[in-house]
Amino acid sequence: MGKKLEDQSIGFSDVIKIRAHHLLCIQGFQGYGYSPEFQINLEKVIKFLKNHPNSCLKVVAEADVICESCPNLEGGCCNRYLHSNSIQSMDIQVLKKLGIADGHIEQVGSLFSQVKDALNKVEDVKDICGNCSWKDKCLWYLSLGL
Ligand code: SF4
Ligand code: SF4
Repeated sequence: MGKKLEDQSIGFSDVIKIRAHHLLCIQGFQGYGYSPEFQINLEKVIKFLKNHPNSCLKVVAEADVICESCPNLEGGCCNRYLHSNSIQSMDIQVLKKLGIADGHIEQVGSLFSQVKDALNKVEDVKDICGNCSWKDKCLWYLSLGL
């Protein structure tokens, strides 16, 4: 798991671990979440990324800095889709559509630009978000007129 945000100094040497499909969720977040702690942590992550577009993200297909405060994280893994593995498949689809490998490191600003360029089609979002329970609250999903 990556270092806690509050422990990180600001700069290029700091790398925040983020699971690939959360690159979309971050852009769709409007305050809802699995618990108050989860919501507060996600707000903190989003604020940090907005204020530090030159810091780096390591894009992964496993638990990240957002999962750290989620009640669904059990023993380091997401327990929400234990039987279908669909959480990880969402990450893998995002990695594929972005054309990057698991573990790819890049600056925040550049990464979010790529997400906007590569994942702006209805089919892309349907493929990735099809089973998500937050679709009706997610600005990213709703922005595509779905
Ligand atoms: S619909 Fe769900 S998985 Fe897709 S971006 Fe929104 S919150 Fe994330
Ligand atoms: S539901 Fe799973 S993937 Fe989503 S934030 Fe919680 S632990 Fe992470």
